[in-house]
Amino acid sequence: MNLSDLTFDREGLAAAIACEDAAFEEALLDEAYRVKVATVGPEVYLRGLIEISNRCVKNCLYCGIRRDIRCQRYELSEEEVLASARIAAQRRFGSVVIQGGERTDAAFVGKITRLLKAIKAIDTGDDPPLGVTLSLGEQPREVYQEWFDAGAHRYLLRIESSNPDLYRKIHPADPLHSYDRRLQALYDLKEIGYQAGTGAMIGMPFQTADDMARDLLFYKEFDAPMVGMGPYNPHPESPLTLSGAPYPSAERRFALGLKMIALLRLLMPDINIAAATALEVLDPRGREKGILAGANVFMPNITPEEQMVKYNLYDRKTILRDCPASAEPGRQDTHICKNCVFPFCSMGDDLAGKRIIVGYGKWGDSKHFRK
Ligand code: SAH
Ligand code: SF4
Repeated sequence: MNLSDLTFDREGLAAAIACEDAAFEEALLDEAYRVKVATVGPEVYLRGLIEISNRCVKNCLYCGIRRDIRCQRYELSEEEVLASARIAAQRRFGSVVIQGGERTDAAFVGKITRLLKAIKAIDTGDDPPLGVTLSLGEQPREVYQEWFDAGAHRYLLRIESSNPDLYRKIHPADPLHSYDRRLQALYDLKEIGYQAGTGAMIGMPFQTADDMARDLLFYKEFDAPMVGMGPYNPHPESPLTLSGAPYPSAERRFALGLKMIALLRLLMPDINIAAATALEVLDPRGREKGILAGANVFMPNITPEEQMVKYNLYDRKTILRDCPASAEPGRQDTHICKNCVFPFCSMGDDLAGKRIIVGYGKWGDSKHFRK
């Protein structure tokens, strides 16, 4: 397949996704990078990722922190979350993401509301107050509204798969795991005024090239201002892994992860696209390569290291092993993984001679949303 043959209808996208020709894939990634720089510029925005808790009421079949998996559970205290957010402010990341398992109890909802107000009050010097993205699953509309009023302005809720049949195969068959409910939650977020981001896993069991093409068209139809999608990585004890259902090799899932970023950049040139952590598990420079394939958002993990190791949505040993607590001798804020930020800063001339500029101290809302 040649780049000039690429069309953006479902068949054309599926053909591009299925094509494993290395020359085509390379040309596609280069073109996406070119379009990104021409449309949203070379800047990459940072979001300090705070993984607040691995307690979850849901039981998604692919996930390593699902309710029924036995693992050590944790929940960051309000002070721990604020300490991480202060580090994001000191390092001029501009924004934080608070992500965690889904909980809808009043204690949790109230805690997030208090945290939002406290994070917005953190001193950021000459920069705007920290931007906050939440990624805490499906919530009643009133809760989304309460958190919006308290200062959250972006929310990431992946649709996981835009094909309702595939969605059903990777979730338990009960009302807590309903495709329609998830879709409704996305529309609630949008109506309230959030920048509602979505995404899907890439390279899952049962997933076809056509399913992935549908995901891309779903983002377009939903008019998503930001998308965070990433390769599926098996968790050794998840029901989906234990079922023995086949899925693409690690190499293929990585290539698909980059290709989906590139195709989405061409389909929706002015949105924010995140280089997901799941890429890093498959390649030590996975997220940087995601940036070079058209992504423009990078999320350094600033969860305290002792807890970070318990947030195992999937097997993260490869990244955690490279995450020494002592990033720089003598620093107090040592739980920032040096591998999360530093290779990034030095990659300027290093990867294919492409320049990356970090948008320090900025919210980096998508151009698409601002329009
Ligand atoms: N509980 C919230 C947010 C935390 S989970 C939610 O589900 O929306 C964040 C994301 O992790 C999920 O959206 C899912 O796409 C991803 N995830 C979970 N298990 C995964 C796996 N095995 N491989 C890759 N991504 C996974
Ligand atoms: Fe919970 Fe999110 Fe994992 Fe589903 S994907 S089990 S909602 S943490």
